[in-house]
Amino acid sequence: MMYIHYCRHCQRIHILNGHKYYCPRCKGHLAELKISYMKYVNLDRDERQALRRRCSDPQELFLLTVSPDKTRGRAKWLQIPASNIENYHSGHYAAYSH
Ligand SMILES: [Zn+2]
Repeated sequence: MMYIHYCRHCQRIHILNGHKYYCPRCKGHLAELKISYMKYVNLDRDERQALRRRCSDPQELFLLTVSPDKTRGRAKWLQIPASNIENYHSGHYAAYSH
């Protein structure tokens, strides 16, 4: 199965086989997007660019990605109120920005 991943460091969307955590290009942390492979490949060029632009915004990216911890399920992840996203982000993802 192919999955759509976004690398914040390269600012690129990578289509990768399986659930990957590290960018094949820069070895940075990847975000796996909720969009399915089939849906992504059917996007036209403008739509792909729009998606990439959304991914470059941390708050949008948060909404577009699947939970990094799939074993806990997605429901808990989605229950975080929008107002908390920013705080949650800065704490949780602090390590990613280095
Ligand atoms: Zn990368």
